[in-house]
Amino acid sequence: MARKVCAHPGCPNLTTGTRCTTHQRERERQRGTRQQRGYGPDHERTRAAWEIEVQTGRIRCANPNCLRPDDPFIHPGEPWDLGHTPDRTGYRGPEHSGCNRSEGGRTAHQQRGTHP
Ligand SMILES: [Zn+2]
Ligand SMILES: [Zn+2]
Repeated sequence: MARKVCAHPGCPNLTTGTRCTTHQRERERQRGTRQQRGYGPDHERTRAAWEIEVQTGRIRCANPNCLRPDDPFIHPGEPWDLGHTPDRTGYRGPEHSGCNRSEGGRTAHQQRGTHP
């Protein structure tokens, strides 16, 4: 069977498929964890990136039902959560913890106090 170079950028391994065994497995694992759990390494990375923005005090609460419509900005040091879109396929953006959890309560969302 004809062999090609692995489709992973920079990987020199030859393979009969699209990717070498290592990268094929890595790809499957990434796809699997993202579907199985809402809070993987991606979530941590996204949250860390937003944290920097939130600390500037210029980020508005992304929750459409924000409990503080008169002052929607998330103040530096204030607790916040990364809100998901209703179907949980993407991130809406940072929300006040109160706004995020009041909505989560309605949808029986699992929050077991894992956030500090
Ligand atoms: Zn590879
Ligand atoms: Zn809010």
